[in-house]
Amino acid sequence: MSFNKQIYDIFIIGGGINGAGIARDAAGRGLKVFLAEKNKVGSATSSWSSKLIHGGLRYLENYEFKLVKESLKEREVITSIAPTITKPLPFVIPHSKKLRSKLLIRLGLFLYDNLGGKTKIPKSSKINFNKKYSNILKSHFKVGFQYYDVQVDDKKLVEMNIEDAKKMGAHIVENRKVINANRSKKGWEILLDNDEVVNSKILINAAGPWINEIVNNVIKANKNKSIRLVKGSHIIIKKLYDQEVAFTLQNDDNRIVFVIPYKNVYSLIGTTEVDVNSPDNPKISNGEIIYLINTINNHFIKQISEKDILDTFSGIRPLIEDFKDASKVTRDYVFDLNLENKNSPLLNIYGGKLTTYRKLSENVIEELTPYLSIKNSKNWTDTKVL
Ligand SMILES: Cc1cc2nc3c(=O)[nH]c(=O)nc-3n(C[C@H](O)[C@H](O)[C@H](O)COP(=O)(O)OP(=O)(O)OC[C@H]3O[C@@H](n4cnc5c(N)ncnc54)[C@H](O)[C@@H]3O)c2cc1C
Repeated sequence: MSFNKQIYDIFIIGGGINGAGIARDAAGRGLKVFLAEKNKVGSATSSWSSKLIHGGLRYLENYEFKLVKESLKEREVITSIAPTITKPLPFVIPHSKKLRSKLLIRLGLFLYDNLGGKTKIPKSSKINFNKKYSNILKSHFKVGFQYYDVQVDDKKLVEMNIEDAKKMGAHIVENRKVINANRSKKGWEILLDNDEVVNSKILINAAGPWINEIVNNVIKANKNKSIRLVKGSHIIIKKLYDQEVAFTLQNDDNRIVFVIPYKNVYSLIGTTEVDVNSPDNPKISNGEIIYLINTINNHFIKQISEKDILDTFSGIRPLIEDFKDASKVTRDYVFDLNLENKNSPLLNIYGGKLTTYRKLSENVIEELTPYLSIKNSKNWTDTKVL
């Protein structure tokens, strides 16, 4: 065993967007940060997303006004601090008489335009498909609505946060799994899979869908929050149409599927929601492939089949269990601060969105401030370009 002599303020398990954001924020405040990632940073859920910095229009249906408001505000912030990897994109919702009424969609879009406050993102509008998109959508779609959200390179967002954190002194290691964490008199003693032992005052569990695996098997804490692991999958095909526009398709089951222009020559299509038992190696199932293909074929003139699929990827959402339908379970994050011993706080981070990672990171510091001596208590990440 080798002992790292330094005593860190914060040890972060997981180099996804949440771990990376917290490392950057904390390092910028002069804290001593150690982050361990078992693979490459940003190689899990944070690169398997729909790659949107968005308010989450459909969460309004679940009355998640606080989450949508925070996300819309963050959409503005992330666009301004990461200009090289974000771009606004129009989204078109084809109206279907059988599904959500025009009034409901208009009301939702009104809130979506205004909840986040001042924005540079264009406002929503009603559109007529006779003039636009009649060569793309099936002829029974006559009208629709257009709104804007922001596309992001999700993996790059993680990498840029990590690079900044490193520049500000954070110690980041990749391909190092955390295998044990014990509470000691002075804080935590954390064992990595290369036999290195690291000491830290505070431990943050930002392991995404592996969160309870860490709570149960690494920290061996005697309580955790019950979560559901819900898989979401995407397919990638040659681009379905030439316009730089995304579509928000409504399905009969009330779910939404996005069709998003991707890397100039592809369309990214997703997602699904399927309960799974393990966070490891998520893969798309035949059922999900059929679901996504049928959604496209129900809306577009151009029909696709399995032969058109060039690639797929799947990620796992760790949703707080509240026994609702998966699409109704909140996408907001929940902090679980464990103070079994006041000298060794543990913060477990459940859930979250790519969009809210920066605010989440700020809130983590606020939550932990009583247990740290922070040189720079002023929030700073909302204006400093990545
Ligand atoms: C299908 C899908 C689509 C989504 N689309 C969007 C979207 O468009 N917009 C949006 O805002 N949000 C979206 N989200 C949500 C968003 O992707 C997640 O909230 C976010 O990526 C979670 O980041 P994280 O850091 O918590 O988890 P992760 O990115 O999974 O990071 C956790 C890290 O912990 C590491 N780890 C685990 N165990 C250990 C260990 N023992 N030692 C060291 N490291 C360990 C893992 O390797 C992993 O890299 C989507 C989610 C899914 C599943």
